[in-house]
Amino acid sequence: MTKVGIIGAGQLGQMLGLAGRRMGLEFVFLDPSEDPPAAIVGPVLKYPFDSEEGLARLAEMTDIITYEFENVPVAAIDRISPSTTVYPPAEALRYAQDRLSEKSLFESLDIPVPAFRAVDSADDLMRAANAIGLPIVLKTRRLGYDGKGQFVVRREEEASAAVAALGGKDLIAEQWVPFEREVSAIGARNVSGEIAHYPLTENQHDNGILSVSRAPADGAHLETIARGYLASLLTRLDYVGVLALELFVTSDGLLANEFAPRVHNSGHWTIEGARTSQFENHLRAILDRPLGDTSMRGHAGMLNLIGEMPADRKELETPPWHLHDYGKAPRPGRKLGHATIVSATADDRDLALRRQTREPGP
Ligand code: AMP
Repeated sequence: MTKVGIIGAGQLGQMLGLAGRRMGLEFVFLDPSEDPPAAIVGPVLKYPFDSEEGLARLAEMTDIITYEFENVPVAAIDRISPSTTVYPPAEALRYAQDRLSEKSLFESLDIPVPAFRAVDSADDLMRAANAIGLPIVLKTRRLGYDGKGQFVVRREEEASAAVAALGGKDLIAEQWVPFEREVSAIGARNVSGEIAHYPLTENQHDNGILSVSRAPADGAHLETIARGYLASLLTRLDYVGVLALELFVTSDGLLANEFAPRVHNSGHWTIEGARTSQFENHLRAILDRPLGDTSMRGHAGMLNLIGEMPADRKELETPPWHLHDYGKAPRPGRKLGHATIVSATADDRDLALRRQTREPGP
């Protein structure tokens, strides 16, 4: 039986494992936390992500290794990859971990991006403001996620404080984009180079954290363009696995924000909403199996459950809703679960989502 090792045992690892068990796969995880979500699927080796001993044990116990988050130290992957197959490739991680090289990669592939500049001082930021204009989104180059490690700088007087607050150097200044919508293009590429695309997903964020996804997103022409960007990225990186490319929709077209070299929260709807989930396709891709059908079963909506699970979960446990509880302890801002709905029409889906989020109608 094929054994898959996963670095990280959070909810993404849990959902990879649940999809993989149906495919007859076994799983071993590496994660230092107490009772991580994926422990319900397979044994967890309790080591830090960069532990030489932990990674060596994971490699010994498994046939192939993948990971569920992009902040795995690249050096740790480099250390084990001569003797073990690790997908997605370390090069993808390297780009995804540094916003500056990520944006430069997009540019080299003719994927449009917001104007950006490297910033290592308040003077650099002033120069960037002169070149790009204000407002600017100032971000740390590394280790930012869910809007953490970033500031919107609206006035020149705010420059020094913003640079200081983010550590003074290794920052990136980006043009603040007045986007209409945010979308993600999710696709998979297997070892043989076969590529499969999911329908474009529209994402709504709340305080920098994904709150609602809808698929398919409106706009067939946008989808064609996004697929082209995604395919060139996958090919350039000789990528293997699922990758999510996050894009802003502006009046001038699409601008790439960032990519995640892994299964992605905005693809959770694929469990019920697509014929093959992103989790199954990630495993198919790394095991070099033909990729599964990514077509939709209807109009899908996904609602993240953040901070605390709803006091009355009955409705989300009742079809047509599907509730996924990751089994995590509540904490403000923590992703504890999600719920998916698949409807016959976009209107039915949006109505059901609005009832849950209590948003007013259009
Ligand atoms: P990120 O960590 O880069 O994914 O950013 C988190 C969120 O901040 C994004 O989903 C956007 O809503 C917003 N954001 C990031 N960069 C920009 C930008 N250049 N212009 C406007 N909003 C942005």
